[in-house]
Amino acid sequence: MPSRSHELFEAAKRRIPGGVNSPVRAFRSVGGEPFFIESASGCRVRDVDGKEYIDYVGTWGPAILGHAPAVVIEAVREAAGCGLSFGIPNPLEVEMAETICRLVPSVERVRMVNSGTEATMSCIRLARGFTGRDRIIKFEGCYHGHVDSLLVKAGSGALTHGRPDSAGVPAALAALTVALPFNDLDAVAAAFARDGREIAAIIVEPVPANAGLYLPEPGFLEGLRALCDAHDTLLIFDEVMTGFRLAPGGYQELCGVRPDLTALGKVIGGGLPVGAFGGRADIMDHLSPDGPVYQAGTLSGNPLALAAGLAQLRELERRDGWEALEALGAAFEAAVRETISGRPLTFHRIGSMFCLYFTEGPVRNLADALRSDRAAFNRYFHACLDAGVYFAPSQFEAGFLSLGHTADDIAATNRITRAALQE
Ligand SMILES: *Cc1c(COP(=O)(O)O)cnc(C)c1O
Repeated sequence: MPSRSHELFEAAKRRIPGGVNSPVRAFRSVGGEPFFIESASGCRVRDVDGKEYIDYVGTWGPAILGHAPAVVIEAVREAAGCGLSFGIPNPLEVEMAETICRLVPSVERVRMVNSGTEATMSCIRLARGFTGRDRIIKFEGCYHGHVDSLLVKAGSGALTHGRPDSAGVPAALAALTVALPFNDLDAVAAAFARDGREIAAIIVEPVPANAGLYLPEPGFLEGLRALCDAHDTLLIFDEVMTGFRLAPGGYQELCGVRPDLTALGKVIGGGLPVGAFGGRADIMDHLSPDGPVYQAGTLSGNPLALAAGLAQLRELERRDGWEALEALGAAFEAAVRETISGRPLTFHRIGSMFCLYFTEGPVRNLADALRSDRAAFNRYFHACLDAGVYFAPSQFEAGFLSLGHTADDIAATNRITRAALQE
């Protein structure tokens, strides 16, 4: 008998392109079909056929307390009772702005938006409007949402012309984006030597987590900061994934480098659609209505979304969540390292984020990550899935731990991954 998930996917494919509302959900990279979720709680998701999985995707990052935490559900329920959207200021917007400015070291002013994509898009427009320049630098393998200017991942050594990764991105726009290898400061210096006076901003995931997960080498982010300062270029940290996850103030709190602008999302919405961008007051004041850079949103600052995000952040602070996540991450890492010892695999972890690459290390940029044995990853993914552990359906996505994971869940996962690697 066909599963309920299969029936739903067949129906979905007739009415939704590819059957999904965001491409990675379609399982194309690993093969097979996605399952449909009926409900989720703690670290577990349950599909419409009644099968349960220990989940390491956590709705791609937001579910840092685990799924359906009571405090967040209650906050949304309470906010909903007062109205769903006003389109005129509400007090939660002030509380959220003050919370973000208190937690994130470089942020003096902040605006709420509805997704990470909107946050990075607005950072880019603001950087261009503030500097009066058009070019931007990004890094290969970094994902900043589906913003036209950022869907560019030029081939090796392409310091000259950007190339669209997506059909529909005008070549003229892509040509303004230079994509460089991560952790290669010389390449950035060379780009500045060519075009320094035209570069509005560098945008970077300080810990790239969209080609698996690799870390900045000592001096790399500091070097970007220095090059930006020397050329009056803005430094934008895309902390949509790392913000409020690696530390209350994101990776910038841990590394000490202060960007000019920061894009935020995911955790800050507590599972509802939210993003934010903020930074230096003199830059942010270039936004309308005070300044010439237009940016707006009918649902921006939505009371339900802000109530959810604030409740999640309060609970994280109350429980010393970041320390607990580090302890959990360390236990998870110890188990994985034992399991993979002697195999040609590379495991990376920072805090509650991780990735297991099916290649020998080191992995320090996209080119290294692409050496992974994807067929081996796919076999591993499906063996884990069959046994009830759900990792992201691609070698090039990070995994997430949450406060919903327990030592028992990690032990169970370890038994399953160990068996999956034998197959
Ligand atoms: C997820 C993500 C985005 C895009 O956020 P959406 O809410 O999906 O638009 C941008 N940047 C990074 C680093 C992300 O991980």
